[in-house]
Amino acid sequence: MQAGHAIGVDLGGTKILAGVVAPDGSVVRRRERATPQDSQEHVIAELEAAVAELLDDSVGGIGIGAPSPIDQENGVVVRCVNLPLENAPLRDRMHERFGIPVGLENDANAAAIGEWRAGAGRGEDDVVMLTLGTGVGGGVISGGKPFRGRNGAGAELGHVVIVHDGRPCQGACTGHGHLEAYVSGSAATAAAREAFGPSADAHRLVRLADEGDATAKELLENAGRHLGSGIGSFVNVFAPQLVVIGGGFGVAAFDYLCGPAEEVARREALEPMRSNVRLAKAELGTAAGLIGAAFVGFEAPYFIQKTT
Ligand SMILES: [Zn+2]
Repeated sequence: MQAGHAIGVDLGGTKILAGVVAPDGSVVRRRERATPQDSQEHVIAELEAAVAELLDDSVGGIGIGAPSPIDQENGVVVRCVNLPLENAPLRDRMHERFGIPVGLENDANAAAIGEWRAGAGRGEDDVVMLTLGTGVGGGVISGGKPFRGRNGAGAELGHVVIVHDGRPCQGACTGHGHLEAYVSGSAATAAAREAFGPSADAHRLVRLADEGDATAKELLENAGRHLGSGIGSFVNVFAPQLVVIGGGFGVAAFDYLCGPAEEVARREALEPMRSNVRLAKAELGTAAGLIGAAFVGFEAPYFIQKTT
């Protein structure tokens, strides 16, 4: 007999990834659907449909990762930047619909929880994860617990300043010189277009580096050095054993980013953190968010143990 499953849902700006997850973090079944862009009710209806098509008697809880600060006290998704969801009481709504416990989490925190429980961070108590995609997400496991800050809004590691008065940040962020403006996939795409023309993007940049192009390698290594500035500061603050680099761009470019990032991070970090920390590539790929969300489901109050 085995303890029950949880459903993890990773609500993204373009896709809803959902899966039935076993207690060891393996994904038993998965489904995906497009994220509606038109209304909150439509987004919630698709979330319900994503859960409904996976739900069976083995499932004892649901976890949802959303790109938003989370009001954990009230179970509310506060405001998503890239999709129409604001002040959405998803925990109660999903609980009423499905009758099993529901946990909510910020999506980057969910990815960090996934890598910590079932990926590159297994067995560690102090892990920092950076998700390099369209933006830069951050998640921190501190002392064997996810760090959330007030309203689950922490830790937005992509929006720390690494260059005073530097490049304007992306999207709705009003900041300057933030890590995200230098090391996100979008920043890499901008650098690729400047160097190689308007049809280039971050993935083309990695491909060119793979083919030996010196300019492409230098652009990626330059991003890696900026990443190292951020990591050095995170290492000084959180003293992790491990920094996990994930996200579509972070994983694709890891071999180019890692060396320069590690060199700069070790220069900036103090002992004993400097010697203790390692960098690792995320292992769960695009499933990190849904697997982490499922662990939030397992840990939702009153998770129902079921036999499978
Ligand atoms: Zn920012």
